[in-house]
Amino acid sequence: MKCENCETKITFWMTQRQPTPFRFKCATCKAVYRVSTPGMAVILLGVLGVVLCLSLVLGFGWETLGAYFAIPFLLFILAVGFGIEVLLYNYISMNGQFTRVDGLDEEGEESVSKEETEEENDEAPH
Ligand SMILES: [Zn+2]
Repeated sequence: MKCENCETKITFWMTQRQPTPFRFKCATCKAVYRVSTPGMAVILLGVLGVVLCLSLVLGFGWETLGAYFAIPFLLFILAVGFGIEVLLYNYISMNGQFTRVDGLDEEGEESVSKEETEEENDEAPH
């Protein structure tokens, strides 16, 4: 996977800094892409289900077995979560389609809706 704009390789760690798997912002050139990956919504629901189940087991285990269970299990969850992230990255890099959405589109028929509100973070520091 590469940024089409600046040819920067899109690494696993770069994708980890994105708030959602449906959007990607290049750290180098700030180009914003919409990421369409087939089945991504279903996959995310599945992941959410797995995380929810593991959390329930964690809560239950903490109550009944205490920290000797909970801490290794927490590490297990983190490992599983990391594994899922790696799988997702591989899946997106193979199946994902990156569509540039930050307004720098070339002349084309495609009508770009104005749903993209400019993100401005100039809140005054207090
Ligand atoms: Zn770029």
